[in-house]
Amino acid sequence: MKNQYLLLVFVLGLIQSFAYSQETESTIYLHCGSLIDSKSKKVKSEQTIIVEGKLIKEIVSGYKIAEGYAIEVIDLKDKTVMPGLMDMHVHIEHQSSKKRYEEGFRLNEADVALKATGYCTKTLMAGFTTVRDLGGTGVNVSLGNAIAKGHIIGPRIYTAEKSIATTGGHADPTNGLRKDLKGDPGPAEGVINSPEDARKAVRQRYKNGADCIKITATGGVLSVAKDGSGPQFSQEEVNAIVEAANEYGFTTAAHAHGAEGMKRAVLAGITSIEHGTKMTEEVMDLMIKKGTYYVPTITAGKFVAEKAAIPGFYPDVVVPKALEIGPMIQNTFGKAYKRGVKIAFGTDSGVSFHGDNAKEFIYMHEAGMPVIEAIISATRTTAELLRIEDKLGTIEAGKIADIIAVDGDPIQNVKVMLDVKFVMKEGVVYKR
Ligand SMILES: [Zn+2]
Repeated sequence: MKNQYLLLVFVLGLIQSFAYSQETESTIYLHCGSLIDSKSKKVKSEQTIIVEGKLIKEIVSGYKIAEGYAIEVIDLKDKTVMPGLMDMHVHIEHQSSKKRYEEGFRLNEADVALKATGYCTKTLMAGFTTVRDLGGTGVNVSLGNAIAKGHIIGPRIYTAEKSIATTGGHADPTNGLRKDLKGDPGPAEGVINSPEDARKAVRQRYKNGADCIKITATGGVLSVAKDGSGPQFSQEEVNAIVEAANEYGFTTAAHAHGAEGMKRAVLAGITSIEHGTKMTEEVMDLMIKKGTYYVPTITAGKFVAEKAAIPGFYPDVVVPKALEIGPMIQNTFGKAYKRGVKIAFGTDSGVSFHGDNAKEFIYMHEAGMPVIEAIISATRTTAELLRIEDKLGTIEAGKIADIIAVDGDPIQNVKVMLDVKFVMKEGVVYKR
């Protein structure tokens, strides 16, 4: 009996020391050939990032030698290392295809969720460690929770749950349906027609687990409706949405193609304008004055214009809108950037393909933005937009260890951003 007891004590001791060594093993040294410091906008060479658990402990010059067996060293000497990328406009639940419109009638929530786990993985492997999801059915909330709990692999998700629209507006879920199927969706479904409805819709999103609020301030390209640009909310309605959202500490995003809808949203104090296709200089100046972010989604514009040329890819009513609006965004982005509007990186992935998010860097660069600025817009600026700049967005001591790396020098060759070689999220390596 005594021997058995001693054996038990010995085994427990072994387990404990194993657990201890597991803990100390979570120290990682990243030997970085080049390191983009998104705070100073400088590229530093030969740096070591010391990661302990989920956090960045220290950054030291040179390649620090690991003392002790418990430290793992990862060689990124031929790579450029930068903070985990963030995309401020994705729809993680879905992806465009010829079948996309009929899927709404066939897929159950579980089908949507299971398909979307693949989109989550692709997004993370492309180097995007944080995304803002701007509208789905509510499965997006569950996906975000499942990733946070470690059930599936993907980026950190801040989600709007269901976009808020007005009757017949972009994101009214029954647009284009047969009369008896149209019904009359209300605030619970994210459709509002008064300031009272607007407040209820925001509170419903809070109740459903949203992290932010999205409105469709103007018509949209992919809805089964004629108008793609006109305003769809009264000033009072947008004001009520932003006021209610602020009470919950939510950031707000407004999908907008036409200038009048954008203007109303900016005046109401919206956090970001999405797409911004027909943004006028007046709106740009108003955004600069109010500190509004512009999330361009050039990728989506190019994608819809290209696919609209394929017969049957989109419903007939969508095609002329896609051909008109799609090609305009890149040009607007170039003008807004040069005028001094704050740019936060966003693609509208889901409209375009998940995992292709980094194409946006190429389009931003083509329109006149230096690569370093584009990387800042996808790291530091996006963290500021989400109000998480104390935790993420730069590689600094005390911040969460979201770190990625690409081959060679992205400043000289932006295309290397398309092939991310190393991904760490919260101190865990997902790709190397
Ligand atoms: Zn969108």
